[in-house]
Amino acid sequence: MHHTPDAYQDIRDAVRALCAEFPDEYHRKVDEQRAYPEAFVDALTKAGWMAALIPQAYGGSGLSMAEASVIMEEINRSGGNSGACHGQMYVMNAIVRSGTEAQKDRYLPRIAAGELRIQAMGVTEPTTGSDTTKLKTQAVKKDGRWVINGQKVWISRVQHSDMMILLARTTPLAEVQKKSDGLSCFLIDLKQAEGKGLTVRPIPNMVNHETNELFFDNLEIPEENLLGVEGKGFKTILDGLNAERTLIAAECIGDGYWFVDRATKYASERVVFNRKIGQNQGVQFPIAESYIEIEAANLMRWRACELIDAHKPCGAEANMAKYLAAKASWEAANACLQTHGGFGFANEYDVERKFRETRLYQVAPISTNMILSYVAEHVLGLPRSY
Ligand SMILES: Cc1cc2nc3c(=O)[nH]c(=O)nc-3n(C[C@H](O)[C@H](O)[C@H](O)COP(=O)(O)OP(=O)(O)OC[C@H]3O[C@@H](n4cnc5c(N)ncnc54)[C@H](O)[C@@H]3O)c2cc1C
Repeated sequence: MHHTPDAYQDIRDAVRALCAEFPDEYHRKVDEQRAYPEAFVDALTKAGWMAALIPQAYGGSGLSMAEASVIMEEINRSGGNSGACHGQMYVMNAIVRSGTEAQKDRYLPRIAAGELRIQAMGVTEPTTGSDTTKLKTQAVKKDGRWVINGQKVWISRVQHSDMMILLARTTPLAEVQKKSDGLSCFLIDLKQAEGKGLTVRPIPNMVNHETNELFFDNLEIPEENLLGVEGKGFKTILDGLNAERTLIAAECIGDGYWFVDRATKYASERVVFNRKIGQNQGVQFPIAESYIEIEAANLMRWRACELIDAHKPCGAEANMAKYLAAKASWEAANACLQTHGGFGFANEYDVERKFRETRLYQVAPISTNMILSYVAEHVLGLPRSY
């Protein structure tokens, strides 16, 4: 498949038309109010876009990763922020890949219909951070139930989800041969759990991103809520993470084009010293450089999509796509802000909002150093560092 920046034009046109109903003022107001873009996410869900990756047999549209990534790209390119809803597109992937037939039948059609929101994934913990296999949240089997104790941090969209996938330790680290063994995934019914063993505490943060601390105090869940093989939860989660990274790469590409478009437009209009600022090469070059880097990152994004769609190993490409795209969008954000001078700081230009939003992707869902470390160790064969 040959991909151009405007591949999948039908999907682009349809998502663009929907996004056009939610102009800059809408996203700006939601950001200022630190609110959730309820109407926007609702419209995307009703139009079926959030069910892109759910197989048709379960009521989804069974689109490819390449097609799904275009949806996310267009949301960000329109000035919106997929971070509010991208979880709904990929968290369920763990059910598709690792769920039992009963779990698939029970959850996927309702997720596809937009009746059930599964936008939350609980991995990160306050004391262990990027060192995921050391996480301390424990699930212990007792009288046909799982009893969960521990703490998570930065768990996004919990307040706008019905379900969450949780990663917890089921066999102590000291008793496993491989440190990634002994972890298991669970489906948590958030509405049932809250107040009955689960406490949710929101974290005010730089971006308008609903994210929380979670405290588990003897939360009991049914035995059948184990997702995937007991002790192999790290793999269950990892399968979904490559999809997440590829979709987020596409979001960063969308951001990058948005910044370049806005910078180009402003530089072509703003007159200082009796000339358009865009006539100065000192203003042009950072915008041109950003464009080049976004185009290059986009090639890696398509490469990662192709591998995922061909069911081939894609860990390196998904990570590299996310790295390149997040870097390119951040450089473009800087160029765009600089081009706007003081006006870049005014809320009404939306540059400062998008600048904050795209900055997150240097840190989450995986920080750049962890990607460099992955490539150094697993692609180049350099000695393991940790
Ligand atoms: C807004 C937001 C939303 C999030 N949503 C979710 C979510 O929904 N679910 C979830 O599970 N998590 C979520 N996260 C967590 C996110 O994945 C983590 O913040 C991220 O993985 C980094 O972990 P940490 O913050 O503990 O940083 P740390 O692991 O403490 O790292 C701090 C810094 O040190 C660097 N570092 C650490 N060790 C090394 C090393 N050995 N070599 C080189 N550099 C190193 C890191 O790269 C980083 O720059 C979210 C975070 C944010 C900010």
